[in-house]
Amino acid sequence: MAEKVIIIGSGPAGWTAAIYAARANLNPLVFAGRPKQTPSTILPGGQLMLTTEVDNYPGFPEGVTGPKLMAHFEQQAVRFGTRIVTDDGLNPDVSNPDDGHSYKYHDCTKLDLSSRPFKVWGEGDELVEAQAVIIATGATANWLGLENEQRLARSGGGVSACAVCDGALPVFRDKELAVIGGGDSAIEEASYLTKFAKKVYLIHRRDELRASKIMRQRAFDNPKIEILWNKIVTDVLGDKMISGLKLQDTQTKEKSDLPVGGLFLAIGHTPATKFLKGQLELDSKGYINLKDPYRSFTSIEGVFAAGDVVDSVYRQAITAAGMGCRSAIDAERWLAEQGIE
Ligand code: NAP
Repeated sequence: MAEKVIIIGSGPAGWTAAIYAARANLNPLVFAGRPKQTPSTILPGGQLMLTTEVDNYPGFPEGVTGPKLMAHFEQQAVRFGTRIVTDDGLNPDVSNPDDGHSYKYHDCTKLDLSSRPFKVWGEGDELVEAQAVIIATGATANWLGLENEQRLARSGGGVSACAVCDGALPVFRDKELAVIGGGDSAIEEASYLTKFAKKVYLIHRRDELRASKIMRQRAFDNPKIEILWNKIVTDVLGDKMISGLKLQDTQTKEKSDLPVGGLFLAIGHTPATKFLKGQLELDSKGYINLKDPYRSFTSIEGVFAAGDVVDSVYRQAITAAGMGCRSAIDAERWLAEQGIE
């Protein structure tokens, strides 16, 4: 028999959708995703699994680590009967979320959304049918792919792909920081960091910003932002904590060192939608198009989407969780209209 709802993805959007769907007696089945290195690390639980302290998620006045927050989400979803597809069957033991059980979670590898019930394939070509599907596969921040960048990002050594998440940490206060990128995000992140930092270098690989006119002006007007044009970062320096960057000028090829106490990447995100190509309407960057930005309906009736996989602007755990909630409520109401409860 077909599942009522399958949820693909296990970040804040996916687990929140699961909590709401489970509490609505929809008995959700989750493909939470297998950990992988692409070279960015991708883990079940999403981008928060790569974040050390989360200080802006409401309800945690003392802060919480990203992995702990995601473990709470998962445990709450499982408490209400959410099932997760794993190497050991559908009911993982999440009593101790630190025991690494999540490495056994399965990817969804393929979908056929051309007729209902929808067909969803997991690893090993296991086929499950579903009346409704919620896609919450998120997006991964783009990284330069440098070995030391990845090492320091993983160890909390002052390298991050989210200034709004990490920039207010005491370790960055009154330091000289660097942001890489020339788009709206880079300027937004650099401006945000100037609230805490002594100075912010905006390192851009060209001599013209990609950002919108208003954002460009914001960068030019901020006395704490210095733009380093035509520069690429070739290495990140520092043992336990970042101490600087090796730069190269793209025009003159001249090499230089820049001492900094923090590095923030803002070179775009890639939505995890490769497996959806040709199935669902995507925009030019691969994000899922919603029929109405305030709801979760996609171009296919019965398929809903939530979180960073539809959102290139806010990209916060709290906004993703909110969208996850919407998607489960939309799915529940749509299933009821089809006579499936
Ligand atoms: P984006 O517009 O794609 O910009 C990415 C930037 O990173 C570009 O300047 C690009 O350089 C640079 N870059 C890419 N790969 C690089 C690499 N390997 N090394 C060095 N630099 C690299 O991405 P975004 O800024 O995240 O914005 C995404 C979307 O969200 C946009 O539509 C944006 O308008 C929107 N957004 C809006 C706001 C706002 O209005 N407040 C805030 C945030 C985001 P090149 O320019 O040379 O390609």
